[in-house]
Amino acid sequence: LRPSGGWKLRLVSYGERGKERAGLLLGEEIVDVSSIDGSFPSTVRGILEAGRVADVASAAEAWEAGDRASRTTSIAAREARLGAPVPDASKVICLGLNYADHAREQQKEPPAAPLLFAKAPSALSGPHDEIAIPKQDERVDCEAELAVVIGRISRNVARGEAMNSVAGYMVFNDVSARTIQRGDRQWFRGKSFDTFAPCGPALVTRDEVPDPHSLAIASYINEMPLQSSRTSELIFDIPYVISYISQAMTLLPGDVIATGTPAGVGVFRDPPVFLKPGDTVTIEIESLGRLVSRVVA
Ligand code: ZN
Repeated sequence: LRPSGGWKLRLVSYGERGKERAGLLLGEEIVDVSSIDGSFPSTVRGILEAGRVADVASAAEAWEAGDRASRTTSIAAREARLGAPVPDASKVICLGLNYADHAREQQKEPPAAPLLFAKAPSALSGPHDEIAIPKQDERVDCEAELAVVIGRISRNVARGEAMNSVAGYMVFNDVSARTIQRGDRQWFRGKSFDTFAPCGPALVTRDEVPDPHSLAIASYINEMPLQSSRTSELIFDIPYVISYISQAMTLLPGDVIATGTPAGVGVFRDPPVFLKPGDTVTIEIESLGRLVSRVVA
């Protein structure tokens, strides 16, 4: 059903923070989803909850192949503010120590089970939004991560069924305030400052990423390469992680699982590398795009 041009469904949330609407990223423009068909929910989370991603894909495909009806609302992508693809996710679940190369750099044994922690959903931020260094802690660094977005209510999911719970993927930056993270012993506060979870630029649907366990992943501060690895280094793969989490808590449409970061993290370097106001952080994953965030005080 896909035109020969290699049509890809990339869902974005665009507009002012807190008022983002679902859009389709089509080349250089963003088309409002509910302007293609008024029956579609106006938010990405709403589309996921209604189980209408496939409907959006076929409507969008028909719309693009057809007359591109003038009643649709579209804006130039470069003029829009993009939010987190699911800015109102119910939870953001992260994995610590889930890359073999990252465990090696810390001279730690790979964990026997996934190590889970949470970030406050209010930390979710757009792919080009600024990262603000909090006044309480200047030792802030970034982590390149592949994030999974859940597409349906998932509880006690078997590993073999777990990929059916995936709506799609996005790039994620797990920003951390390291002094607070260590000092509190609980990671929650140090990982949850506002702006500490840039993600996007789009939710790339599962069928567009044939093998999420074979993607190049990298981060840069300004021009300096920081991390460069592949998602094949993941210790616990995506179905394992979804199944494991779903034995403990119900995953809801729009929930974000950040699958951990590879080697090269700033705090573990010698000397350590932290973000400073004026820096630009770039996080990139093959096929998914890139986050470019300016750092401010
Ligand atoms: Zn992380």
